[in-house]
Amino acid sequence: MSENPDAPAAAGGSPPIAEYHAHVYYDPAKTRAAAERLRQRVAAEFPDARLGRWHDALVGPHTQSMYQIAFPGGMIGAFLPWLMLNRDGLTILLHPDTGNDLLDHTAHAAWFGAVLPLRLEAFAGRDAAD
Ligand code: ZN
Repeated sequence: MSENPDAPAAAGGSPPIAEYHAHVYYDPAKTRAAAERLRQRVAAEFPDARLGRWHDALVGPHTQSMYQIAFPGGMIGAFLPWLMLNRDGLTILLHPDTGNDLLDHTAHAAWFGAVLPLRLEAFAGRDAAD
């Protein structure tokens, strides 16, 4: 059998993921304080993480208020279990940044707490990340 170059990469054969995003969702009226506490802890414990702006107003594909945490691939082993244990009831979307925003936010995505709808049409013909 010849290898199909279009097939998805097998486990161990995928290119390394340079960066991930964790989108932390909150309700400005109810869970902003929890989101603030999580944000402060991430900043203190994971100095390599880059904390994005608060988006109380909906932005991009997101259907709830959120901020983004971008972090290098090498941090996933420490950050993933930390996030599982410390998300404090907040819903989080974790996804790799492979350059394909649509796939990264759908097929490649992992959700903690809930699965929120996304406005996938936001990925059509736009250039902003997130
Ligand atoms: Zn994202």
